[in-house]
Parts: sequence; C-alpha cells; structure tokens
Amino acid sequence: MNKINWNFDNTYFNLSEPFREKINPSPVKKPEIILLNNDLAKLLNLDFSKISNSELSNIFSGNLLPAGSNSIAQAYAGHQFGHFTMLGDGRAILLGEHVSQSNKKYDIQFKGSGKTAFSRNGDGRAALGPMLREYIISEAMNALKIPTTRSLAVVKTGELIQREKALQGAILTRVASSHIRVGTFQYIAARQKNDELKTLLDYTIDRHYPEIKNSNNQALDLLNRLIERQCDLVVNWMRVGFIHGVMNTDNMTISGETIDYGPCAFMDTYDPKTVFSSIDQNGRYAYCNQPGITKWNLARFAECLIPFFERDQKKAIQIATETINDFEKKYEEKWMNMMRNKLGISGLDNKDKPLILDLLTWMHEKKADYTNTFCHLMNLDPKKEKIFEDSKFIDWKKRWKERLLKNDNNQIKSKELMKNNNPLVIPRNHKIEEALEAAELNDMEPINKILEILKNPYDKQSEIIDYQYPSKSSEKYQTFCGT
Ligand code: AMP
Ligand code: MG
Repeated sequence: MNKINWNFDNTYFNLSEPFREKINPSPVKKPEIILLNNDLAKLLNLDFSKISNSELSNIFSGNLLPAGSNSIAQAYAGHQFGHFTMLGDGRAILLGEHVSQSNKKYDIQFKGSGKTAFSRNGDGRAALGPMLREYIISEAMNALKIPTTRSLAVVKTGELIQREKALQGAILTRVASSHIRVGTFQYIAARQKNDELKTLLDYTIDRHYPEIKNSNNQALDLLNRLIERQCDLVVNWMRVGFIHGVMNTDNMTISGETIDYGPCAFMDTYDPKTVFSSIDQNGRYAYCNQPGITKWNLARFAECLIPFFERDQKKAIQIATETINDFEKKYEEKWMNMMRNKLGISGLDNKDKPLILDLLTWMHEKKADYTNTFCHLMNLDPKKEKIFEDSKFIDWKKRWKERLLKNDNNQIKSKELMKNNNPLVIPRNHKIEEALEAAELNDMEPINKILEILKNPYDKQSEIIDYQYPSKSSEKYQTFCGT
C-alpha cells in the first residue's frame, strides 16, 4: 500500500530506547475523512489522485499503516505551569519521517490515535472539535507566515469518547519539521546519562542546525540558535495577537515552530493581560507574558545542556546564565522592528518607542481592536468605525505621519511593509466556534469557507467583513485544553 507516494525514513525510531516506545495506532471503528489538505500534500509530493475516500479514511485513521513506517510514541518531559512532569506522547503516534522530493524530512504524526505507554490515565483519543480547531489555526498561522506545525487531514473515528459528555472522536494528521521539544531534552537530561544526551544533541543538530556540526561548542551554538528562533517566533505571535495559552516546555519545539494548538486564540480588543484558557487562572501565559515565558523555557533548555558548555560546572552555569540573559535585549530589538514594520516606518528614530507605546496605550484605553486598528492605518478599516475619530487618536496619527516623512524608504515600500505585517483577517473566535458547531452536525461548509479565507490573510478579499470583527456578544470567550 503506497499509492499516495509515502516515502518514510525512521531516524527517530532508530534512536531506540529510551527515546521512544514502539507502538501502532489502535484501529478505529468507522473512519471517515472530512478534511484533506491538498496544498500541503503538494508540498510533500503526496498524490491523492489514484485513491478512494474510503482508502484515505483508512490511511489517515491509522487503520492501514503505510509500508516503510515504524510507528512510535516519543518520550518527553516538561514543565507544565512551572511544575516538572514526565509526559510523552499519550495520544499521539509518529509514523516516521516522510522525505519529500527536495529531500526535506517531515514528521507525520497522528493525534488521537490510541493509548501508548505514556497515556497515564488518558484514553489516547481526541475529540472532533479540538482537532478541527488545531487544523484551522495551524493552517492560518502558516498563511500568516509564522513557523508552525501543519495539518494534513482530519478523520472522524466513528467512535464516541467520554469527556464531560460523550463527544465524536477524531484523528488529526500533524506534519512538523520534527517533534523534538525542550521537554525532550529535559526528559533525557533527567536520566543523567551524558551519552544519551549527546545522542539527542547530535541528532537535533543534524536535523535542524547542520551548519553548526563542526563548531567547537555545539551546545552553546545550539542554545544561541534556539534563542534566536524562539525570539523570532514570539515576536511573530505578538505581531498578530496570537496567544498560545499553554507555553509549557513540552510545547516548545527545537525547530522554532509553533506547536500544540490547545486553548490558543487571537486577541480582539487590545489588552496585554488577555487570557482565554480556562485553566490559566493566574494568567501565566497571558499575551504580555509570552516573551518572559519564552525566556524562562529557554533557561530550562540551557540547564539541560550544562554538561556540554564547559568542563568546569561553575563556568558552564555562568555561560548559560549570560547567554540567557541576553534574551531581553534581543527581544526588545526584534519587537521594535516588528512594530516599526506594522507602522510602515523605517530607519531608527529615538521617538519611535514612545510613538509605538502611545498607540498601544490608546488601544488599551479605548478597547480598540488590535487587528483592525492597523487595518485603519492602512485605510482598510472596512466599517469606518467611530472609534478612529477619537481626538487622541487623530493627534497620534499626526505624529505618525510626521515620522513617516523621516523614512529612509519610499512610500510604496512603506505601504508594502504594512501590508506584509498587518493581516486583514485573523481566525476570529466566534467564527471558529460557528464552524466547529456546524461540523459537529456534519456540515463542513463553514469550515471550508473559513479555511479558504484564512489562506490569504494579507490580501483584500470580497465579502469577508463578517470574518473581520469580533463577536458582538459581551460574554468572555473561553478556551479549553484539547483533551
Ligand atoms: P497537551 O495538553 O496536549 O500538551 O498534552 C499534555 C500531555 O497529556 C501529553 O503528554 C499528552 O500526550 C497527554 N494527553 C493529553 N490528552 C490525552 C489523552 N486523551 N490520553 C492520553 N494522554 C493525553
Ligand atoms: Mg503538548
């Protein structure tokens, strides 16, 4: 069975114990494919043209395993809300790495495919709503040009799973450049066997950072590269108002891709303290805390690598601390540049920071929509809202326009900068909910429509006004962990 051009390598499987458990997905009763990502399939050089829907349903449920795959559950640990726990793939199974024609490796993973050695008290299964939600948001993130795992398919299992009530079961096929997490390093480091840690270090460098293979201090170079990538990632999240919701160390990849779309959501009105997740009572993972948590997670990563920085442990700790403490400076610089891009300003001016902060303060005070405020600045505010007639805002705009005159690029470039950094449409919470509710009742049209619109978030599209505004309801939107 290899009609769709799978081309599996199994390098992670080959790491053997203790990195993974060998296990097959548990078959499901009545698989039915409901989403298939043809754009992503093209990138992977997969071919669905010679295959029936029922075969696809069997393939993407794990009922029919592809030739060449050695499926596994990966071991990892993690700090969850600050507390260290042994975890691992409790409801996910990695088929292996599919190698595309350009020789790129892609992890192909089923989420919701049955119990593993790491399931603890869980059933290894996933509900339809959260799997569709991950599909929508991860694909939206990709279109927003933010590094992310992707979604290839969703299959309904035809089985009910028990949560607070009985829910339809589903399996998501997730595609990632790898599933190596900060938590993977934590798991291996906790075993205190340096040869295992060296195996993971070598594997990771080989897979993600081959350019440092021959460096004198690979571990330090890896740390610096991860700081760079994660810093870029969180700046991107801040740019579009994305709130991950569970930035535990097991949910932070070494590739720098966004992973594990659970209670994540996009901010509507600008409020730095925004939290959507029902389990994040203290706002640990609030919008404004994301950079600080990124740094905290990177420090946990640095701790794992201490044996490799320097022979002398004291010196090694000092190196790690100094490297991590550079994060704020890096973040500030990247964040300022990102905000300059959103405002179409180029070159440096010492009044840029107050200009940016005053806009954010105004948005916060007036409860302005984060996305639409930037749309307004691009003259693309679809409803010409009253809020932008506020005198304070008009004064601010005068300052902004004066600053634009100091740009060291031309007007066209400045407009392009804004266009490339300010989405006109983001996954609005109520529109996602609407689409998920319809899908529960077998109506896939709203999901297909929202997926189509979110493919081009930076472009003008007709008839999307409904998708550009938050819900009118004053009820606070809450998200739940995707279990
Ligand atoms: P997550 O919240 O998705 O990042 O998952 C945290 C941990 O809980 C991971 O080790 C998951 O594999 C595990 N987990 C989540 N849901 C389930 C489930 N239904 N059955 C077994 N393990 C699960
Ligand atoms: Mg996770």
